[in-house]
Amino acid sequence: MEPQPRIGVYICHCGVNISAMVDVEQVAEFAATLPSVAVARDYLYMCSDPGQALIRQDIEEHRLNRVVVASCSPRMHEPTFRGAAQQAGLNPYLVEMANIREQCSWVHSDREKATEKAKLLVASAVAKAALLEPLEEREVEVTPGVVVIGGGIAGMVAALDVADAGFPVYLVEKSDHLGGRVADLNRVFPTLEPVTDLLEPLIERVRSHPNVTVFLNAQVAGVEGYVGNFEVAVSGFRVSGSRLNELETSNLKPETHRLNIGSIIVATGYDVFDPHRKPEYGYGQYPNVITSLEMERRLAEGNLAVDGRTPQSVAFIQCVGSRDAQVGNLYCSRVCCMYTAKQAQLVQELLPEARVTVFFIDVRTFGKGGEEFYDEARAKGVRYRRGNISEIIRRGDRVVLLAEDTLLRQPIEFEADLVVLAVGMEPRSDTAALSSLLKLPRSADGFFMECHPKLRPVDTVVDGVFLAGCCQGPKDIPDTIAQAKAAASSALIPLIRGAVQVEAATAVVDVEECAGCGTCVEVCPYGAPALDPYLNVSVVNAVLCKGCGACASACPSKAIHLQRFTPGQILAQVEALVE
Ligand code: SF4
Ligand code: SF4
Ligand code: SF4
Repeated sequence: MEPQPRIGVYICHCGVNISAMVDVEQVAEFAATLPSVAVARDYLYMCSDPGQALIRQDIEEHRLNRVVVASCSPRMHEPTFRGAAQQAGLNPYLVEMANIREQCSWVHSDREKATEKAKLLVASAVAKAALLEPLEEREVEVTPGVVVIGGGIAGMVAALDVADAGFPVYLVEKSDHLGGRVADLNRVFPTLEPVTDLLEPLIERVRSHPNVTVFLNAQVAGVEGYVGNFEVAVSGFRVSGSRLNELETSNLKPETHRLNIGSIIVATGYDVFDPHRKPEYGYGQYPNVITSLEMERRLAEGNLAVDGRTPQSVAFIQCVGSRDAQVGNLYCSRVCCMYTAKQAQLVQELLPEARVTVFFIDVRTFGKGGEEFYDEARAKGVRYRRGNISEIIRRGDRVVLLAEDTLLRQPIEFEADLVVLAVGMEPRSDTAALSSLLKLPRSADGFFMECHPKLRPVDTVVDGVFLAGCCQGPKDIPDTIAQAKAAASSALIPLIRGAVQVEAATAVVDVEECAGCGTCVEVCPYGAPALDPYLNVSVVNAVLCKGCGACASACPSKAIHLQRFTPGQILAQVEALVE
């Protein structure tokens, strides 16, 4: 016979995050009166080591067989409390959480009502906890190897770290060369090193590494499987070693390669903002208006002439396509201030007599050495002017910037021989296609979305798929490399362990009730259910299932349900809330 539930309830103060708005002592006293509750306590920080020790101690002393923690979102600390329960010998799936921080103390301003709501949330969690059942965690073996999508600086750094750890890496690059956007640059800020000094040794290491296989003119055509056991179809040219140089002259034919690997790193980079979308700047209309990338090439060639004339006045306009609601990009591209400071310095050095002026909204020089670099630009004679450019018009051989000086609050006209548009970054045009292949969500700005902006910045909601570089959001080279190394480390974890643990709280099908309608197959965003071709009933691949519950709510026969969210458990929660 099943033992009667003995529930321990723990109410967290979260410092004052919860206790300032919720009377936590009163909630703990209330919890002690609920059915099946053997012990109820409040504590300053439940997630701290002493907080977890308290739970472990109570499980042993009070023979608890269920635990309820009322604290922050389960996204934050459910693994912490499951771990604490497990250490005390309790099945981790017998832990339930009530979110009285994000869903209570942080969103209310009436202490009395917030306290009443916290009591209801706790009562609801206790009612569910009494019906929880232990679940078995399973492990699946991992196929050693990583696919890295994108052969820019992020992809190459990530690939080399994985390869150095002794695992095979398949680097898939869409274009016919490695290096990505960085290869289009001349020098890097703030050191002013030539880009080739940075890039060539990296490409050479990729080329000569025995664990790296490169695919050029290649793209991912399909992805199947799950963390530890993906099958990635890559269409393109497989090249390695010295043949990396031979692609253009080769008569090789593109082929589809099926790669079995354990982790995937997405490092697809970004698109450069197209300034044609700001027609008021006259890009493509006036030869005097160029983009910052075109300026990189001119600086590399040492030729800044416009129609054969040396410019006397060079103007830079920052934030083109960034922080601009009109074009739908509210974010800062994070590199334009610094590369403008770099280009303006180099222009001033090449043309000491010229007037070099930067028009800016704000100057953001957040990186290491950034502020000093900005100071250097001004010390070299570059002028910074706070202003919004409304339009650029032609006047003879020159152009005129019509602007508002936002410090003086007055309209100005500024003549220039050459204007450089500091274009920002945008999500790549193929982001949506890759997002649907890999089932990766995107954030509101269109870039791939990380699992958690602070705690899991390189993970995605798809286990085994990691993000590196600007595909996740704009960043400079040091941040890109740091993230690439982080993604490589995360991708290596399952490979080094040789096995991955899979979530136990998944969907299950009652085959007696299943009508084989296929609704669950259609609605599942992770491709977990499939219809058995012989029995015509749904079968859920538990490794793919994320426990989102979409299938359970869509099934017309109520044949599929989610463990830990059974109809009985949900009804018990609802009853406790409305009693
Ligand atoms: Fe704050 Fe959550 Fe830790 Fe409690 S468990 S102290 S609510 S972070
Ligand atoms: Fe079976 Fe329900 Fe899936 Fe239809 S939706 S196949 S009835 S489990
Ligand atoms: Fe798919 Fe979500 Fe159902 Fe799992 S719970 S099978 S992920 S729809």
